[in-house]
Amino acid sequence: MSAPEQSRHLVTAIPGPRSSELIARKSAAVARGVGNTMPVYTARAFGGIVEDVDGNRLIDLGSGIAVTTIGNAAPKVVDAVAEQAGKFTHTCFMVTPYEGYVAVAEALNRLTPGDGDKRSALFNSGSEAVENAVKIARTFTGKQAVVAFDHAYHGRTNLTMALTAKSMPYKHGFGPFAPEIYRAPLSYPFRDAEFGGKELATDGELAARRAISVIDKQIGADNLAAVIIEPIQGEGGFIVPAEGFLPTLLDWCRANGVVFIADEVQTGFARTGAWFACEHEGIVPDLIVTAKGIADGLPLSAVTGRAEIMDAPHVSGLGGTYGGNPIACAAALATIETIEADGLVARAAQIESLMKDKLGRMQADDDRIGDVRGRGAMIAVELVKPGTTEPDAELTKKLSTAAHQAGVIVLTCGTFGNVLRFLPPLAISEELLLEGLEVLELILRDL
Ligand SMILES: *Cc1c(COP(=O)(O)O)cnc(C)c1O
Repeated sequence: MSAPEQSRHLVTAIPGPRSSELIARKSAAVARGVGNTMPVYTARAFGGIVEDVDGNRLIDLGSGIAVTTIGNAAPKVVDAVAEQAGKFTHTCFMVTPYEGYVAVAEALNRLTPGDGDKRSALFNSGSEAVENAVKIARTFTGKQAVVAFDHAYHGRTNLTMALTAKSMPYKHGFGPFAPEIYRAPLSYPFRDAEFGGKELATDGELAARRAISVIDKQIGADNLAAVIIEPIQGEGGFIVPAEGFLPTLLDWCRANGVVFIADEVQTGFARTGAWFACEHEGIVPDLIVTAKGIADGLPLSAVTGRAEIMDAPHVSGLGGTYGGNPIACAAALATIETIEADGLVARAAQIESLMKDKLGRMQADDDRIGDVRGRGAMIAVELVKPGTTEPDAELTKKLSTAAHQAGVIVLTCGTFGNVLRFLPPLAISEELLLEGLEVLELILRDL
Protein backbone atom coordinates (compact mmCIF):
# COMPACT_ATOMS: atom_id res chain seq x y z
CA MET A 1 0.00 0.00 0.00
CA SER A 2 1.36 3.43 -0.90
CA ALA A 3 1.80 6.17 1.67
CA PRO A 4 -0.77 9.00 1.90
CA GLU A 5 0.13 12.33 0.32
CA GLN A 6 1.71 14.69 2.84
CA SER A 7 -0.96 17.38 2.95
CA ARG A 8 -4.04 18.20 5.03
CA HIS A 9 -7.14 17.55 2.98
CA LEU A 10 -10.77 17.20 4.03
CA VAL A 11 -13.25 15.59 1.65
CA THR A 12 -16.10 15.01 4.13
CA ALA A 13 -17.24 16.46 7.40
CA ILE A 14 -15.53 14.87 10.43
CA PRO A 15 -16.63 12.13 10.89
CA GLY A 16 -17.41 11.09 7.32
CA PRO A 17 -19.96 8.38 6.40
CA ARG A 18 -17.57 5.39 6.64
CA SER A 19 -16.24 6.49 10.02
CA SER A 20 -19.82 7.06 11.17
CA GLU A 21 -20.70 3.48 10.24
CA LEU A 22 -17.71 2.19 12.18
CA ILE A 23 -18.62 4.36 15.17
CA ALA A 24 -22.05 2.70 15.23
CA ARG A 25 -20.47 -0.77 15.00
CA LYS A 26 -18.02 0.14 17.76
CA SER A 27 -20.78 1.29 20.09
CA ALA A 28 -22.55 -2.03 19.61
CA ALA A 29 -19.43 -4.22 19.96
CA VAL A 30 -16.80 -2.50 22.12
CA ALA A 31 -17.11 -1.75 25.82
CA ARG A 32 -17.87 1.94 26.25
CA GLY A 33 -15.03 2.30 28.78
CA VAL A 34 -12.67 2.22 25.82
CA GLY A 35 -13.02 5.79 24.57
CA ASN A 36 -11.77 7.57 21.44
CA THR A 37 -10.19 11.01 21.15
CA MET A 38 -11.30 11.51 17.56
CA PRO A 39 -14.38 10.25 15.70
CA VAL A 40 -12.48 8.99 12.66
CA TYR A 41 -11.24 5.54 11.73
CA THR A 42 -7.74 5.12 10.34
CA ALA A 43 -6.95 3.77 6.88
CA ARG A 44 -3.22 4.50 6.66
CA ALA A 45 -0.61 6.76 8.19
CA PHE A 46 2.85 7.97 7.27
CA GLY A 47 5.14 10.93 7.97
CA GLY A 48 2.99 13.73 9.37
CA ILE A 49 -0.35 12.48 8.02
CA VAL A 50 -3.08 10.10 9.18
CA GLU A 51 -5.63 9.29 6.48
CA ASP A 52 -9.08 8.14 7.52
CA VAL A 53 -11.42 5.65 5.88
CA ASP A 54 -13.29 8.48 4.12
CA GLY A 55 -10.11 9.80 2.51
CA ASN A 56 -9.62 12.75 4.87
CA ARG A 57 -5.97 13.53 5.54
CA LEU A 58 -5.22 14.82 9.03
CA ILE A 59 -2.07 16.45 10.36
CA ASP A 60 -0.70 14.20 13.09
CA LEU A 61 0.39 16.13 16.17
CA GLY A 62 -0.10 13.15 18.49
CA SER A 63 1.94 10.18 17.18
CA GLY A 64 -0.55 7.77 18.74
CA ILE A 65 0.43 9.25 22.15
CA ALA A 66 4.19 9.56 21.61
CA VAL A 67 4.58 6.12 20.05
CA THR A 68 5.28 6.58 16.34
CA THR A 69 8.09 9.03 17.08
CA ILE A 70 10.11 8.09 14.00
CA GLY A 71 6.97 8.24 11.81
CA ASN A 72 4.14 5.78 11.30
CA ALA A 73 4.95 2.66 9.28
CA ALA A 74 8.59 3.74 9.05
CA PRO A 75 10.16 1.86 6.12
CA LYS A 76 12.92 0.11 8.10
CA VAL A 77 10.40 -1.02 10.69
CA VAL A 78 7.97 -2.33 8.09
CA ASP A 79 10.77 -4.37 6.46
CA ALA A 80 12.09 -5.68 9.77
CA VAL A 81 8.62 -6.70 10.95
CA ALA A 82 7.82 -8.50 7.67
CA GLU A 83 11.14 -10.31 7.68
CA GLN A 84 10.81 -11.46 11.29
CA ALA A 85 7.17 -12.48 10.86
CA GLY A 86 8.26 -14.70 7.96
CA LYS A 87 10.81 -16.49 10.15
CA PHE A 88 8.91 -17.03 13.39
CA THR A 89 6.26 -15.03 15.24
CA HIS A 90 6.74 -16.33 18.77
CA THR A 91 8.50 -19.00 20.74
CA CYS A 92 8.41 -17.35 24.20
CA PHE A 93 11.82 -16.04 25.27
CA MET A 94 11.51 -18.11 28.46
CA VAL A 95 11.20 -21.33 26.41
CA THR A 96 13.50 -21.16 23.38
CA PRO A 97 15.13 -17.71 23.33
CA TYR A 98 16.21 -15.72 20.26
CA GLU A 99 18.81 -13.10 19.38
CA GLY A 100 16.48 -10.10 18.86
CA TYR A 101 15.64 -9.90 22.57
CA VAL A 102 19.31 -9.95 23.54
CA ALA A 103 20.14 -7.34 20.90
CA VAL A 104 17.42 -4.98 22.20
CA ALA A 105 18.75 -5.42 25.76
CA GLU A 106 22.28 -4.63 24.52
CA ALA A 107 21.04 -1.53 22.70
CA LEU A 108 19.14 -0.29 25.77
CA ASN A 109 22.16 -0.87 28.01
CA ARG A 110 24.29 1.12 25.57
CA LEU A 111 21.85 4.01 24.95
CA THR A 112 20.48 4.72 28.45
CA PRO A 113 22.34 7.17 30.70
CA GLY A 114 25.27 5.84 32.76
CA ASP A 115 28.43 3.96 31.87
CA GLY A 116 28.28 1.18 34.46
CA ASP A 117 27.40 -2.47 33.96
CA LYS A 118 23.70 -2.65 33.05
CA ARG A 119 20.99 -5.23 32.41
CA SER A 120 17.56 -5.03 30.77
CA ALA A 121 14.34 -7.05 30.84
CA LEU A 122 11.59 -6.74 28.25
CA PHE A 123 7.80 -6.64 28.67
CA ASN A 124 4.73 -5.60 26.65
CA SER A 125 3.27 -2.36 27.97
CA GLY A 126 4.52 0.65 29.86
CA SER A 127 2.38 -0.31 32.85
CA GLU A 128 3.82 -3.82 32.93
CA ALA A 129 7.36 -2.47 32.84
CA VAL A 130 6.61 -0.01 35.67
CA GLU A 131 5.23 -2.89 37.77
CA ASN A 132 8.39 -4.89 37.12
CA ALA A 133 10.63 -1.95 38.02
CA VAL A 134 8.84 -1.85 41.39
CA LYS A 135 9.25 -5.62 41.83
CA ILE A 136 12.97 -5.30 41.11
CA ALA A 137 13.42 -2.35 43.48
CA ARG A 138 11.60 -4.22 46.25
CA THR A 139 13.70 -7.35 45.96
CA PHE A 140 16.91 -5.31 45.75
CA THR A 141 16.17 -3.18 48.82
CA GLY A 142 14.12 -5.64 50.85
CA LYS A 143 11.74 -2.70 51.45
CA GLN A 144 8.17 -2.08 50.29
CA ALA A 145 7.05 1.53 50.08
CA VAL A 146 7.08 3.42 46.79
CA VAL A 147 6.76 7.17 46.31
CA ALA A 148 5.13 8.71 43.26
CA PHE A 149 4.37 12.39 42.66
CA ASP A 150 1.44 14.72 42.28
CA HIS A 151 0.10 14.68 38.70
CA ALA A 152 1.96 11.43 37.96
CA TYR A 153 0.81 8.95 35.35
CA HIS A 154 2.29 5.46 35.38
CA GLY A 155 -0.47 3.32 33.85
CA ARG A 156 -3.79 1.56 34.38
CA THR A 157 -3.00 -1.82 35.95
CA ASN A 158 -3.67 -2.16 39.66
CA LEU A 159 -0.24 -1.19 40.95
CA THR A 160 0.17 1.54 38.35
CA MET A 161 -3.30 2.96 39.03
CA ALA A 162 -2.13 3.35 42.61
CA LEU A 163 0.93 5.25 41.33
CA THR A 164 -1.14 7.40 38.97
CA ALA A 165 -2.50 10.58 40.55
CA LYS A 166 -5.62 11.51 38.60
CA SER A 167 -8.86 9.83 39.61
CA MET A 168 -11.11 10.55 36.62
CA PRO A 169 -10.92 8.71 34.25
CA TYR A 170 -8.01 6.46 35.29
CA LYS A 171 -8.97 5.23 38.76
CA HIS A 172 -12.56 6.24 39.49
CA GLY A 173 -14.50 3.22 40.77
CA PHE A 174 -11.62 0.79 40.19
CA GLY A 175 -10.21 0.47 43.72
CA PRO A 176 -9.01 -0.83 46.07
CA PHE A 177 -5.53 -0.01 44.89
CA ALA A 178 -2.18 -1.58 45.73
CA PRO A 179 -0.90 -0.69 49.19
CA GLU A 180 2.35 0.99 50.23
CA ILE A 181 2.15 3.71 47.58
CA TYR A 182 2.67 7.30 48.75
CA ARG A 183 2.54 10.65 47.02
CA ALA A 184 4.90 13.60 47.27
CA PRO A 185 4.65 17.16 45.90
CA LEU A 186 6.15 17.80 42.48
CA SER A 187 7.96 20.81 41.13
CA TYR A 188 5.39 22.49 38.86
CA PRO A 189 6.92 25.88 38.04
CA PHE A 190 3.82 27.48 36.45
CA ARG A 191 1.62 26.68 39.47
CA ASP A 192 4.31 26.81 42.17
CA ALA A 193 4.80 30.46 41.20
CA GLU A 194 1.31 31.25 42.46
CA PHE A 195 1.01 28.92 45.42
CA GLY A 196 4.61 28.68 46.59
CA GLY A 197 6.15 31.94 45.46
CA LYS A 198 8.72 32.81 42.82
CA GLU A 199 11.52 31.03 44.65
CA LEU A 200 9.80 27.65 44.69
CA ALA A 201 8.99 28.01 40.98
CA THR A 202 12.58 28.57 39.95
CA ASP A 203 14.56 26.76 42.65
CA GLY A 204 14.30 23.03 41.96
CA GLU A 205 16.41 22.19 44.97
CA LEU A 206 13.94 23.95 47.24
CA ALA A 207 11.02 22.10 45.59
CA ALA A 208 12.91 18.82 46.08
CA ARG A 209 13.53 19.58 49.74
CA ARG A 210 9.78 20.10 50.17
CA ALA A 211 9.15 16.65 48.65
CA ILE A 212 11.96 15.02 50.65
CA SER A 213 10.54 16.42 53.88
CA VAL A 214 7.18 14.79 53.12
CA ILE A 215 8.90 11.50 52.25
CA ASP A 216 11.08 11.58 55.36
CA LYS A 217 8.28 12.41 57.78
CA GLN A 218 5.42 10.37 56.31
CA ILE A 219 7.22 7.24 55.10
CA GLY A 220 10.87 7.20 56.17
CA ALA A 221 13.79 6.06 54.04
CA ASP A 222 14.05 2.79 55.99
CA ASN A 223 10.68 1.73 54.60
CA LEU A 224 11.14 3.10 51.13
CA ALA A 225 12.09 0.85 48.21
CA ALA A 226 11.80 3.32 45.37
CA VAL A 227 10.95 6.77 44.15
CA ILE A 228 9.40 6.77 40.69
CA ILE A 229 9.11 9.89 38.58
CA GLU A 230 8.60 10.96 34.98
CA PRO A 231 11.47 13.37 34.17
CA ILE A 232 8.87 15.40 32.26
CA GLN A 233 5.34 14.46 33.21
CA GLY A 234 3.23 13.26 30.31
CA GLU A 235 -0.49 12.85 31.06
CA GLY A 236 -0.03 15.15 34.07
CA GLY A 237 0.51 18.13 31.77
CA PHE A 238 4.02 18.07 30.23
CA ILE A 239 5.39 19.52 33.44
CA VAL A 240 9.12 20.21 33.33
CA PRO A 241 10.37 20.43 36.92
CA ALA A 242 12.52 23.39 37.95
CA GLU A 243 16.22 22.89 37.41
CA GLY A 244 17.80 21.03 40.29
CA PHE A 245 14.66 19.15 41.34
CA LEU A 246 15.58 15.77 39.84
CA PRO A 247 19.30 15.83 40.79
CA THR A 248 18.46 16.73 44.40
CA LEU A 249 15.93 13.90 44.64
CA LEU A 250 18.37 11.46 43.08
CA ASP A 251 21.13 12.46 45.52
CA TRP A 252 18.78 11.90 48.43
CA CYS A 253 17.81 8.46 47.08
CA ARG A 254 21.48 7.47 46.69
CA ALA A 255 22.28 8.62 50.21
CA ASN A 256 19.33 6.69 51.66
CA GLY A 257 19.39 3.35 49.86
CA VAL A 258 16.30 4.15 47.80
CA VAL A 259 16.07 3.06 44.15
CA PHE A 260 15.45 6.00 41.80
CA ILE A 261 13.21 4.91 38.92
CA ALA A 262 12.80 7.21 35.90
CA ASP A 263 9.59 6.50 34.01
CA GLU A 264 10.65 7.49 30.49
CA VAL A 265 7.77 5.69 28.81
CA GLN A 266 6.60 8.94 27.19
CA THR A 267 9.83 10.96 27.19
CA GLY A 268 12.21 8.30 25.85
CA PHE A 269 13.61 7.51 22.42
CA ALA A 270 14.55 10.92 21.03
CA ARG A 271 11.18 12.47 21.90
CA THR A 272 12.61 15.34 23.98
CA GLY A 273 15.70 16.11 21.91
CA ALA A 274 17.87 13.62 23.79
CA TRP A 275 17.76 9.84 23.74
CA PHE A 276 16.28 10.08 27.24
CA ALA A 277 14.94 13.12 29.08
CA CYS A 278 17.12 12.40 32.14
CA GLU A 279 20.08 13.55 30.05
CA HIS A 280 18.78 17.13 30.10
CA GLU A 281 19.18 17.08 33.89
CA GLY A 282 22.52 15.27 33.83
CA ILE A 283 21.15 12.48 36.02
CA VAL A 284 21.72 8.74 35.83
CA PRO A 285 18.70 6.93 37.29
CA ASP A 286 19.09 3.51 38.92
CA LEU A 287 16.32 2.07 36.76
CA ILE A 288 14.79 3.48 33.62
CA VAL A 289 11.43 2.34 32.25
CA THR A 290 10.76 2.61 28.51
CA ALA A 291 7.91 1.74 26.14
CA LYS A 292 5.84 3.91 23.71
CA GLY A 293 8.50 5.21 21.26
CA ILE A 294 10.67 2.09 21.56
CA ALA A 295 9.29 0.10 18.62
CA ASP A 296 7.26 2.46 16.38
CA GLY A 297 3.93 1.01 17.53
CA LEU A 298 4.71 -2.63 18.18
CA PRO A 299 3.95 -3.48 21.81
CA LEU A 300 7.24 -3.56 23.70
CA SER A 301 8.54 -2.14 26.96
CA ALA A 302 11.64 -2.48 29.07
CA VAL A 303 13.30 -1.94 32.41
CA THR A 304 17.01 -1.10 32.19
CA GLY A 305 19.37 -0.37 35.04
CA ARG A 306 22.39 -1.05 37.15
CA ALA A 307 23.29 -4.74 36.99
CA GLU A 308 23.30 -5.31 40.76
CA ILE A 309 19.76 -3.96 41.04
CA MET A 310 18.39 -5.64 37.91
CA ASP A 311 19.88 -8.98 38.98
CA ALA A 312 18.29 -8.89 42.44
CA PRO A 313 15.18 -10.98 41.60
CA HIS A 314 15.69 -14.75 41.62
CA VAL A 315 16.02 -16.75 38.38
CA SER A 316 12.61 -16.96 36.63
CA GLY A 317 11.18 -14.27 38.91
CA LEU A 318 10.66 -11.99 35.91
CA GLY A 319 8.99 -12.72 32.58
CA GLY A 320 5.71 -13.21 30.80
CA THR A 321 4.38 -15.06 27.76
CA TYR A 322 4.85 -12.26 25.23
CA GLY A 323 7.52 -10.07 26.86
CA GLY A 324 10.12 -9.19 24.21
CA ASN A 325 8.10 -10.70 21.37
CA PRO A 326 10.44 -11.32 18.38
CA ILE A 327 8.47 -9.10 15.96
CA ALA A 328 8.39 -6.25 18.48
CA CYS A 329 12.14 -6.69 19.07
CA ALA A 330 12.82 -6.51 15.32
CA ALA A 331 10.76 -3.30 15.20
CA ALA A 332 12.71 -1.85 18.14
CA LEU A 333 16.07 -2.57 16.52
CA ALA A 334 14.89 -0.93 13.28
CA THR A 335 13.55 2.05 15.26
CA ILE A 336 16.85 2.54 17.06
CA GLU A 337 18.74 2.21 13.77
CA THR A 338 16.45 4.84 12.19
CA ILE A 339 16.92 7.30 15.06
CA GLU A 340 20.69 6.94 14.74
CA ALA A 341 20.89 6.94 10.93
CA ASP A 342 18.49 9.85 10.42
CA GLY A 343 19.80 12.07 13.24
CA LEU A 344 16.37 12.19 14.85
CA VAL A 345 17.60 13.30 18.28
CA ALA A 346 18.77 16.56 16.69
CA ARG A 347 15.55 16.72 14.66
CA ALA A 348 13.50 16.72 17.87
CA ALA A 349 15.54 19.68 19.12
CA GLN A 350 14.82 21.56 15.85
CA ILE A 351 11.12 20.86 16.26
CA GLU A 352 11.33 22.31 19.77
CA SER A 353 12.68 25.64 18.58
CA LEU A 354 10.20 25.79 15.72
CA MET A 355 7.22 25.08 17.99
CA LYS A 356 8.34 27.23 20.91
CA ASP A 357 8.98 30.13 18.57
CA LYS A 358 5.51 29.91 17.02
CA LEU A 359 3.69 29.19 20.30
CA GLY A 360 5.68 31.87 22.10
CA ARG A 361 4.50 34.44 19.57
CA MET A 362 0.93 33.22 20.00
CA GLN A 363 1.30 33.55 23.78
CA ALA A 364 2.54 37.13 23.47
CA ASP A 365 -0.74 38.03 21.73
CA ASP A 366 -3.10 36.00 23.86
CA ASP A 367 -3.28 36.01 27.65
CA ARG A 368 -5.29 32.78 27.66
CA ILE A 369 -2.03 30.96 26.91
CA GLY A 370 -0.62 30.84 30.43
CA ASP A 371 2.44 28.73 29.75
CA VAL A 372 4.36 27.21 26.84
CA ARG A 373 6.65 24.41 27.95
CA GLY A 374 8.25 21.08 27.20
CA ARG A 375 11.31 19.80 25.39
CA GLY A 376 11.96 18.53 21.90
CA ALA A 377 8.85 17.27 20.14
CA MET A 378 7.00 17.17 23.48
CA ILE A 379 5.55 20.65 23.82
CA ALA A 380 2.39 21.90 25.51
CA VAL A 381 0.41 25.04 26.16
CA GLU A 382 -1.51 25.50 29.38
CA LEU A 383 -4.76 27.42 28.82
CA VAL A 384 -6.10 29.69 31.55
CA LYS A 385 -8.73 32.33 32.20
CA PRO A 386 -7.24 35.52 30.73
CA GLY A 387 -4.29 36.81 32.69
CA THR A 388 -4.71 34.38 35.61
CA THR A 389 -3.47 30.87 36.38
CA GLU A 390 -7.03 29.56 36.70
CA PRO A 391 -7.32 26.51 34.40
CA ASP A 392 -9.69 26.76 31.43
CA ALA A 393 -10.65 23.18 30.60
CA GLU A 394 -13.68 24.30 28.62
CA LEU A 395 -11.62 26.40 26.22
CA THR A 396 -9.17 23.51 25.87
CA LYS A 397 -11.96 21.12 24.96
CA LYS A 398 -13.47 23.55 22.45
CA LEU A 399 -10.09 24.20 20.87
CA SER A 400 -9.17 20.54 20.50
CA THR A 401 -12.61 19.60 19.14
CA ALA A 402 -12.47 22.41 16.57
CA ALA A 403 -8.94 21.34 15.61
CA HIS A 404 -10.18 17.80 15.03
CA GLN A 405 -12.96 19.15 12.82
CA ALA A 406 -10.35 21.09 10.86
CA GLY A 407 -8.17 18.04 10.31
CA VAL A 408 -5.52 18.40 13.01
CA ILE A 409 -4.95 15.61 15.53
CA VAL A 410 -4.18 17.16 18.91
CA LEU A 411 -4.38 15.70 22.40
CA THR A 412 -5.16 17.27 25.72
CA CYS A 413 -3.78 16.38 29.15
CA GLY A 414 -3.18 17.78 32.60
CA THR A 415 -4.73 17.27 36.01
CA PHE A 416 -7.08 20.18 35.29
CA GLY A 417 -7.77 19.16 31.67
CA ASN A 418 -6.46 22.50 30.41
CA VAL A 419 -3.26 21.48 28.63
CA LEU A 420 -3.03 21.09 24.88
CA ARG A 421 -0.11 18.85 24.07
CA PHE A 422 1.85 18.34 20.89
CA LEU A 423 3.70 15.11 20.15
CA PRO A 424 4.38 15.31 16.41
CA PRO A 425 6.22 12.49 14.72
CA LEU A 426 9.81 13.48 13.98
CA ALA A 427 9.12 12.56 10.35
CA ILE A 428 6.67 15.45 9.95
CA SER A 429 7.62 18.26 7.52
CA GLU A 430 8.05 21.77 8.88
CA GLU A 431 5.25 22.95 6.58
CA LEU A 432 2.74 20.50 8.05
CA LEU A 433 3.86 21.20 11.60
CA LEU A 434 3.46 24.96 11.19
CA GLU A 435 0.18 24.53 9.32
CA GLY A 436 -1.16 22.50 12.24
CA LEU A 437 -0.22 25.26 14.69
CA GLU A 438 -1.64 27.96 12.42
CA VAL A 439 -4.97 26.13 12.28
CA LEU A 440 -5.00 26.21 16.09
CA GLU A 441 -4.07 29.88 16.14
CA LEU A 442 -7.00 30.77 13.87
CA ILE A 443 -9.45 28.69 15.91
CA LEU A 444 -8.24 30.19 19.18
CA ARG A 445 -8.68 33.69 17.76
CA ASP A 446 -12.32 32.89 16.97
CA LEU A 447 -13.16 31.32 20.33
C1 LIG B 1 1.69 5.70 28.70
C2 LIG B 1 2.48 5.73 29.94
C3 LIG B 1 2.54 4.62 30.80
C4 LIG B 1 1.72 3.37 30.56
O1 LIG B 1 2.08 2.73 29.39
P1 LIG B 1 1.04 1.66 28.75
O2 LIG B 1 1.84 1.08 27.60
O3 LIG B 1 -0.14 2.44 28.32
O4 LIG B 1 0.74 0.69 29.80
C5 LIG B 1 3.37 4.69 31.90
N1 LIG B 1 4.09 5.80 32.16
C6 LIG B 1 4.05 6.88 31.36
C7 LIG B 1 4.89 8.05 31.69
C8 LIG B 1 3.24 6.89 30.23
O5 LIG B 1 3.19 7.98 29.46
